[in-house]
Amino acid sequence: MNRTDVDIFISGGGIAGLTAAAAFAHQGLSVVLVDPSTPPKAIGTKGSDLRSTAFLAPAQDLLENIGLWSALADHAEPLKTLRVIDCQGHPPEPRTDRAFQSTDLGATSFGWNLPNWLTRKVLTETLAGAGNVDLRLGDGFARLVTREGEAIVTLASGDQVRARLAIAADGRSSPLREAAGIACKTTRYGQKALAFIVSHDAAHHNVSTELYLSGGAFTTVPLPNHEEKHCSAIVWMNDGAEAVRLQALDDEAFAQAATQRSCSVLGEMKLLSPRNVWPIVTQEAERLTSQRVALIAEAAHVLPPIGAQGLNTSLRDVAILSELAAADKGLIGTREFLSEYAKARSRDIHLRAQFIDLYNRICRSDMSKLQDLRSAGLKLVHDVAPLRRTIMTAGMGR
Ligand SMILES: Cc1cc2nc3c(=O)[nH]c(=O)nc-3n(C[C@H](O)[C@H](O)[C@H](O)COP(=O)(O)OP(=O)(O)OC[C@H]3O[C@@H](n4cnc5c(N)ncnc54)[C@H](O)[C@@H]3O)c2cc1C
Repeated sequence: MNRTDVDIFISGGGIAGLTAAAAFAHQGLSVVLVDPSTPPKAIGTKGSDLRSTAFLAPAQDLLENIGLWSALADHAEPLKTLRVIDCQGHPPEPRTDRAFQSTDLGATSFGWNLPNWLTRKVLTETLAGAGNVDLRLGDGFARLVTREGEAIVTLASGDQVRARLAIAADGRSSPLREAAGIACKTTRYGQKALAFIVSHDAAHHNVSTELYLSGGAFTTVPLPNHEEKHCSAIVWMNDGAEAVRLQALDDEAFAQAATQRSCSVLGEMKLLSPRNVWPIVTQEAERLTSQRVALIAEAAHVLPPIGAQGLNTSLRDVAILSELAAADKGLIGTREFLSEYAKARSRDIHLRAQFIDLYNRICRSDMSKLQDLRSAGLKLVHDVAPLRRTIMTAGMGR
């Protein structure tokens, strides 16, 4: 059995855990990060995450400040316009169509889109060369003992890590959260999201389009061209039974159904990847900390995939932890440090979770009154300029 002493232990090498490792290492702190899985090497490899993330400006600032952005920038596609279409009927037809421009806020883009599998691969490769990060892929968190001054973690391999702070970044079923005795509250909607990548006839012009219909949103997210074809990542939310039916279709029938559901805004779609299915939940941990332990990202909060809030909210957790560490390295992992973290993050997480929960309930409803409200709400939010700018600024996390 090996025993290692470090400043920070991180359980979970998803995008949030890897970013946290880079943020602490950038300050000269020593980090051990463990994850039983290794990132896929190419799109469609077993286990590859086919979601994409729109990194909004604050998330991109963080990646830039800790030296990760340069490795990602070449793969990123700017998100300049967010188009929202309220649809009706079967097959769906647009009834209200509005575009929100980043230039309205004086910005060249709202953010930058990157496929998750590629981001994870690039971050892992970048961190593998970083001096003070000990990346242990293929090993996992197993047990936790904490004392006033330290967390002692036992890994699946039997190795031990003694750290001043243990961070749970190990996803929605977080084993470190469970070991720390922190419960969470989960709201289920009976919805599932299908995530996949398509090529399409028409150029996306860096526009992300959200098309609302009962069952949930259908979202197109612009990606760089693939083999000279226009490409987008798609998240298609549906009631569970409909998602299961769609998932059972062959590729051609599925692509036709996706083209129809998209109201052909990008022309005909062709599948470029397998399809992942994600259950839609809102989940909040009852606390963000326990002795020598901090929860971040989906270990702390899971949101329905609307308005690019999930991972962006997670990277705000990372930014705050990293700012607190920079302010006084001697305090890392102490009660004072953890209470400042919880104070800084709890309210924002809770408000975002409540807002997106309500928004999802209104948007997916098949009640005609709520559908009318959805359509009128879109017109109001877009057409009243001060309201539009306030909502856009809040959505960007500014
Ligand atoms: C369909 C869909 C679309 C989305 N689109 C967006 C978007 O556009 N913008 C946005 O901001 N967010 C989006 N989100 C949310 C975002 O994708 C997630 O928040 C994010 O990917 C989760 O990252 P994470 O690092 O918290 O968790 P994960 O990626 O789940 O990583 C957790 C890691 O922990 C590891 N692990 C498990 N057990 C152990 C163990 N015992 N020890 C150590 N490690 C362990 C796992 O192997 C995994 O690698 C979307 C979500 C969904 C469902």
